[in-house]
Amino acid sequence: MTSDAPDAGARPAPDLDALVDGVLAGDRTRLAQAITLVESRRSEDTRLAQDMLGRLLPHTGRALRVGITGVPGVGKSTFIEALGLRLVERDHRVGVLAVDPSSSLSGGSILGDKSRMTDLARHERAFIRPSPAGDSLGGVARRTRESMLVCEAAGYDVIFVETVGVGQSETAVADMVDFFLVLLLPGAGDELQGIKKGIIELADVLAVHKADGDNEARARDAVSDYGAALRYLRPRDEGWTPRAVAVSSRTGTGLDELWDIVKEHDAWARESGALDLRRREQRTRWMWSLIDDELRSAFRRHPAVKAALAGIEGDLAAGTIPATEAALRLLDAYRSARA
Ligand code: GDP
Repeated sequence: MTSDAPDAGARPAPDLDALVDGVLAGDRTRLAQAITLVESRRSEDTRLAQDMLGRLLPHTGRALRVGITGVPGVGKSTFIEALGLRLVERDHRVGVLAVDPSSSLSGGSILGDKSRMTDLARHERAFIRPSPAGDSLGGVARRTRESMLVCEAAGYDVIFVETVGVGQSETAVADMVDFFLVLLLPGAGDELQGIKKGIIELADVLAVHKADGDNEARARDAVSDYGAALRYLRPRDEGWTPRAVAVSSRTGTGLDELWDIVKEHDAWARESGALDLRRREQRTRWMWSLIDDELRSAFRRHPAVKAALAGIEGDLAAGTIPATEAALRLLDAYRSARA
């Protein structure tokens, strides 16, 4: 098709009609191709991806979007697989996505490993996609957010978005989902577990994981401690008080109870208008963050800024000018070159 294209590395432009029709028909190959288009960093793909998303958008928004975080080793993938398998057995279609801003450094750590969630991955009503690579959290989060829309258009009605919590990735994930679940380990203080301040405040539910065997009693204690702590926190939403529950992916303990809480939250959020409000605010913040990212990179790419930057950074490092002065000079260089 494009054998006469000047760029030998060019690949044929995807057939948008086929992609859109395929995604809407729930075709997994098309779904994977559509996500590849969304993830592409080639400038010629950006417009195509936006055209495709525009056509898919009317078919999105009906899924329950659940964010999941927890330190490495807390059992995120085991948990998603155990819960996901229960849900597909109940005729849900489950999409699993991830936000891992470190994946470009590590070559795709989270979900990249094919050995994770193998049973769920094999299921015809599940779709699992590793974290997109990216040079910034903003870029990774944008791609995951758009991939989530594509999954919804393909008929997935439960979407899990997993994050390991590098940098601000929990906040980015909490800001794209309807329900945010924090997995914890029993019997270790927050600091010991490496839980960052502020994460508990984002949670709609805290799940104390691995509540089995010797851990069971400790998990129950942790649940009552966290439960008490949650009652003193200002809730994220008026009308929903986050709860703590004990779960085990190994034995299945608490998984149904947990899913009942997710459904209860969903019913409350739809009924009260909290879901609409959350999603509306998320879309507005998303728009501004796209604008911020784009303006910032246009600024950094600008020749006048680049030319001024070396000297100004040197002065800043040497302490001969304050940061405010440095910022003003760069902004002046940018504005006068554009005037
Ligand atoms: P992730 O890094 O958070 O994705 O954690 P994994 O899902 O890879 O699990 C880390 C370790 O915890 C593995 O050795 C699992 O076998 C173990 N694990 C996961 N879920 C449970 C559970 O419910 N109970 C117990 N006892 N161990 C678990």
